[in-house]
Amino acid sequence: MKYKRILLKLSGESLMGNVSYGIDPERLKQYAEEIKAIKDLGVEVAIVIGGGNIYRGVQAEAAGIERVQGDYMGMLATVINGMALQSALESAGMYTRLMSGIKMEQVCEPFIRRRAIRHLEKGRIVIFGAGIGNPYFTTDSTASLRAIEIQADVVLKGTRVDGVYTADPEKDPTATRYSELSFQEAYEKNLNIMDMTAFTLCQENNLPIIVFDMNKTGNLMEVLKGETAGTLIN
Ligand code: UDP
Repeated sequence: MKYKRILLKLSGESLMGNVSYGIDPERLKQYAEEIKAIKDLGVEVAIVIGGGNIYRGVQAEAAGIERVQGDYMGMLATVINGMALQSALESAGMYTRLMSGIKMEQVCEPFIRRRAIRHLEKGRIVIFGAGIGNPYFTTDSTASLRAIEIQADVVLKGTRVDGVYTADPEKDPTATRYSELSFQEAYEKNLNIMDMTAFTLCQENNLPIIVFDMNKTGNLMEVLKGETAGTLIN
């Protein structure tokens, strides 16, 4: 395995699978199997989960809800997703801990960096819910920050497309996929990989990002083996 400790970022939307709102149980099951396959090979897995399938802070303003309030609502949405993912992983036979950026003692542990690392060393899958616990951030930024904190080898950003393209492949048929790219290049070409906060955190801390299609069976494993199933930014 090319990477020993990974931070996997899953968007909330990815959990929607074939349903129009909320969480698709089939998708959850599929993810649990993919994660189990790499776990069984000894990879330490931490996961940051988004909340976009349930709520986003930017949505709030349109609904007349103050931005900060909306952001907290979005963070709570990520905890719901985290709990669902935790159950799916446990059903598939893995040990897990859900750690939250907002204290919620009845349902999850608070995020404590040293404890998170200890869980990983013991072979537990750690899910980070509630983002970093602050408004005006995203779960992509959370992924970068937590990855640095737990000294992950790489951030794996699971998306619907299989990597970073020269242009939007859904609009431009001539677009081609990069297999590898430097941070500088990605920045200069204005390629939308993560929001700037998340991107900069990775760049400044020399933390590579791999963008890949999490929905294709076996892809997560390929990425971990160092095969070019996505785009590596380093
Ligand atoms: N959020 C936040 N701070 C964080 C992480 C998330 O305020 O540290 C809020 C923000 O409103 C965001 C929402 O939670 O819109 C859901 O997260 P995100 O949009 O990143 O989820 P994804 O797009 O990955 O599903």
